[in-house]
Amino acid sequence: MTEAVYGRVIVKLSGEALAGSAGFGVDQSIVEAIAADIVAAHRMGVELGIVVGGGNIFRGVEVSGRGVSRPTGDTMGMLATVMNSLVLEAAITRNGAPASTLSAVPLPTVCDHFSRQRALDLIAGGRVVILAGGTGNPYFTTDTTAVLRAAELDCQAVLKATNVDGVYSADPKQDKSAVRYDRLSPREAMERNLKVMDTTAFALARENAMPIIVFSIREPGAIEAVLRGKGRATIVAE
Ligand code: UDP
Repeated sequence: MTEAVYGRVIVKLSGEALAGSAGFGVDQSIVEAIAADIVAAHRMGVELGIVVGGGNIFRGVEVSGRGVSRPTGDTMGMLATVMNSLVLEAAITRNGAPASTLSAVPLPTVCDHFSRQRALDLIAGGRVVILAGGTGNPYFTTDTTAVLRAAELDCQAVLKATNVDGVYSADPKQDKSAVRYDRLSPREAMERNLKVMDTTAFALARENAMPIIVFSIREPGAIEAVLRGKGRATIVAE
């Protein structure tokens, strides 16, 4: 059996990944499949932090201007990530791995507040840690959160789950001539304006030499395959 390539990683799931074809809310069958993938990765002995987005419920930039300010819209987005995190925590626990949610937005009656030490203690205790509430600040994204948490929690990579099997020069669903990259640097990703992550996330990854592995979450066992160095993916690294 192949050993895991990484010992500790952050897995970044978009909110849309939980929504399925409905595009909004949570498709429970998809959540169960993703949770089973995460539990399989945990059983390999890999230490896992999970960052989930909120785009299946609210994105600040989309709701702002419709009666709320951008910071308020972003707060709604951050609270949406907490809802998704609680759904995932339940599903991961049900599938057989201990999991805890820590939120960067203080919600004392819901879950513990994020601190680096608390997250490290939970990981050392063998739990999957779900990092909710983004960075806790408006104007950021959960992609940036994923790279930030990976750096501060001494992870070796960010596994960015998407609907396609890597990074392309253009949207492969719309442009048949789109070229797929096996590997590229964060600088190239920023210069070519590739939309897979925002510029802040790529800049942070570059400054901290944090590899980002972009892969499709659609195939069962995708996370485990990437961790064994076998899955089809694009590596964004210097
Ligand atoms: N958000 C924020 N600060 C953060 C992370 C997220 O304000 O540090 C808000 C922002 O409004 C964002 C929303 O939460 O649009 C949901 O996150 P994101 O868009 O990254 O979710 P995804 O696209 O991954 O589902």
